Amino acid sequence: MGDLGQSAAVTAGETGPRRIGVLGGTFDPVHIGHLRSALEVAEALALDELRLTPSARPPHRDTPQVSAQDRLAMVERAVAGMTPLVVDDRELKRDKPSYTIDTLELMRAELAADDQLFLLLGWDAFCGLPTWHRWEELLQHCHILVLQRPDADSEPPDALRNLLAARSVSDPLALKGSSGQIAFVWQTPLAVSATQIRQLLASGKSVRFLVPDAVLAYIDAHGLYRASN
Ligand code: ATP
Repeated sequence: MGDLGQSAAVTAGETGPRRIGVLGGTFDPVHIGHLRSALEVAEALALDELRLTPSARPPHRDTPQVSAQDRLAMVERAVAGMTPLVVDDRELKRDKPSYTIDTLELMRAELAADDQLFLLLGWDAFCGLPTWHRWEELLQHCHILVLQRPDADSEPPDALRNLLAARSVSDPLALKGSSGQIAFVWQTPLAVSATQIRQLLASGKSVRFLVPDAVLAYIDAHGLYRASN
């Protein structure tokens, strides 16, 4: 049965271009807001894979007792068995923080030319794009999916107006080719943040139902985020 399932997956992968999403973040810790959002995008766009990609941070910025390995371990537990959500740990394996362009170049080099790569960005992150390293090259490697709230009414910065006019399509399912276009995905995010979770834990409160049980078990087993550590 397992063998059959595996060969079916391989065959399906060989029938056409793959559709791969990338969601970066510090995931300190990963929570249901990240996971629901990722799952909804993966289902709406029929992604073959959505890679949660924890980012490295300068050591002095890490919450003292939470290492990159702990953040990675929590994401691994959160997505275990949750196909098409998977973890991509390449940014943590490098000895310095990666720029998104580096990660996309590496991923693109591993894919077939017609595979589609989708970079997921919240609206705020998207608006900050012009400050990113080599940002104008990003669309050579991927499409950008901007996760937007239904109640949002903010205007993009001037630097992005021409890009949006030239590259955006109204329907994310209409994104054509392997890269180069921008589409908006409208979502109502769950009102959860990692900051809130760290604060609850530091004050001795429960974060049950805000993170998957497997993540909670890891936090408890390792005493993460508790003020006494
Ligand atoms: P912090 O509170 O530490 O800033 P965070 O909860 O915002 O963390 P990040 O790891 O910074 O989490 O987020 C990674 C990605 O997930 C970002 O693109 C962010 O916009 C998105 N994200 C964060 N929280 C939510 C949420 N509740 N719903 C949907 N997406 C979210």
